[in-house]
Amino acid sequence: MPVIQLDNIRHSYKVGAGNLLVLKGINLSIDQGEFVAIMGPSGSGKSTLLQILGLLERPTEGRYLLMGKDVSRLSDDEGAALRSKTIGFIFQMFNLLSRTSALDNVLLPAIYAGQGIPHPRALGLLEDVGLSDRVHHKPNQLSGGQQQRVAIARSLINSPKIIFADEPTGNLASDQADEVLEKLSELNARGMTVIMVTHEPDIASYAERIIKIKDGLIQSDEKNPNPKHQLSKTQSAPNGAEKEIAVLSSPHVLPDLSWLEVKENASSAARAISANKTRSFLSVLGILIGVCSVIAMLAIGRGAQKSIEARISGLGSNLVMIWPFSSAAFHGGTGAVSRLTLEDMTAISHLSSHIIAVNGEVSGNEQVVYKNKNTNTEVNGDLPAYASMHSAEPYYGRFFTDEENNNIAQVAVLGQTVVNTLFGKNDPVGQQIKIKRISFKVIGILPPKGSSAWHDQDDLVVIPLKTAMMRLGLNGWSSLNSRGRYLQRMEVECDGPNSIDGVMAKIKAFLRARHHLPAYKDDDFTVRNMQDIQSALTGTTKTFGVLLGIVAAISILVGGIGIMNIMLVSVTERTREIGLRKAVGAPRRAILAQFLIESALLSLLGGTIGVLLGVGIAFVMTHFAGWAAIVSPQSVILAFGCSAIIGIIFGFWPARKASLLSPIEALRYE
Ligand code: ADP
Ligand code: MG
Repeated sequence: MPVIQLDNIRHSYKVGAGNLLVLKGINLSIDQGEFVAIMGPSGSGKSTLLQILGLLERPTEGRYLLMGKDVSRLSDDEGAALRSKTIGFIFQMFNLLSRTSALDNVLLPAIYAGQGIPHPRALGLLEDVGLSDRVHHKPNQLSGGQQQRVAIARSLINSPKIIFADEPTGNLASDQADEVLEKLSELNARGMTVIMVTHEPDIASYAERIIKIKDGLIQSDEKNPNPKHQLSKTQSAPNGAEKEIAVLSSPHVLPDLSWLEVKENASSAARAISANKTRSFLSVLGILIGVCSVIAMLAIGRGAQKSIEARISGLGSNLVMIWPFSSAAFHGGTGAVSRLTLEDMTAISHLSSHIIAVNGEVSGNEQVVYKNKNTNTEVNGDLPAYASMHSAEPYYGRFFTDEENNNIAQVAVLGQTVVNTLFGKNDPVGQQIKIKRISFKVIGILPPKGSSAWHDQDDLVVIPLKTAMMRLGLNGWSSLNSRGRYLQRMEVECDGPNSIDGVMAKIKAFLRARHHLPAYKDDDFTVRNMQDIQSALTGTTKTFGVLLGIVAAISILVGGIGIMNIMLVSVTERTREIGLRKAVGAPRRAILAQFLIESALLSLLGGTIGVLLGVGIAFVMTHFAGWAAIVSPQSVILAFGCSAIIGIIFGFWPARKASLLSPIEALRYE
């Protein structure tokens, strides 16, 4: 049985609107162990014929039997599997992977055959072609002849049955050409079928049989009685033929993605990325900025939330708060405002037996002076109930009493920040400070509550409410011109969680009556308990989270497009490499995996730099700007996961484009 049998093979190329018929009916039969040269003038169809023989191209018409099996209509992947197991290809242009050592080039087909990495065999083959001292050289560090010898070693790595060589010496000087041809004769002598295309009679003279074609037809087919480099043939192993048949008749299952292949892909991706450092960096900039800002913003948001929670937890949970403006105004819109007076407060305190304490507050920003030091701080007028309601019993000194409030006493309790600014390490209790030129005696220091991004809770002074209203003229927001008459806020403490709703209802009814509100009008005041306030804040945090999510999604989308763009460029640039990988047996899946791994690696790189930068920003904020930024491990994992997934999603289209390239068209790509 012949190894190769062609029946009336015709092949035409699409050129423009028409078809160019290149092979016009080739009948040919080649036996196991022959050394055949195909000759003919340029353009006669030699390469086309060899590509059909090498399963790189499907004939338009006719039948091709390879070792008895019809292979004229194989799918791409079946062709790849068969090429990888039975065929070795040597090209005129060598087609080695650049930036890859001779050894790794030789190993490439073995990786796609999925049979492990036969290092010793590859080294043996390189030694065989006289390159044992050039194993780690890259193609650009080798001469043309050496490169072609690497290509020969590569074509042999999977122990093929047939070697196809298309003008293997076309790019070589004559002495180097002789080395290559002697190598081919030697392989043939060991039992391998060698089919070589050339247009030079001198080179064809190495073969035992010379087929001449012209204009797509066989013109002559003659034995060469005197091959130039004749070697005595050793008999091929007796069971060789049976093995070949076994290879061919087994279903063409492609090896699954192996760990070796992933490793090869990852290192080739790393080579590609590091060969274009600036370009790679610019292309991941989008992902980098997206991930970095998401991490930093989440950290700041979390920090803010924590500090708000801390502030709220400092308040008793049975508190009800009353503001003299409608809830629309409360939420920052325009709405009705009203007034809260001291008389209102007294009346409210008697509304229910469940009310155990009330507090009224006025507040203002004032200059506070001690000797030659001064600071601008928040001055609050409160009732003594403030201390227990806000867990603000002084840790040093004492709070003021009801008596002091009624007597309009000029006493003050200071927050830690004010103490630090005005007194440094000195004891403030008993000292006189001035607020609006009025003297106050310091009687205590409030317990520190900490600070958040936008608010230092210890930067305040608390004085008796009446003193604040009557001596300093502090007033509620809504009554700027009525000096010292109105409260800014009221707080009511209930005796337990169950009485809160009843107390709130009573306060509302009382204030509506007091303000003569007809039924159709909304409240011109706001009454809230701590649960309300807490859920309002969680609502804000959720909105913040959703906004963050949208920003993240947009920036990651933009980042992904950056990756896709560069991957498309990469695929185009490496079209020849893709062609070569396919020619030596890479199935579609392998090319897809290769470019997906590359884009995932690229975007993971961006993600990693982004995470580091984001964590760095959070760190700087916390330690130098005083913002509490808390990086959560989840946000880091999320960022990593997102960037890997983005790489795969946006890399898919370019990778698929690469995987669908036809090997021979890709190899011809300029
Ligand atoms: P040879 O190797 O004998 O020089 P080829 O087999 O490469 O010739 O090409 C045979 C003919 O087919 C030439 O005329 C060439 O222009 C044409 N040809 C080769 N490849 C293509 C292609 N991909 N598309 C269109 N025409 C092609
Ligand atoms: Mg050619």
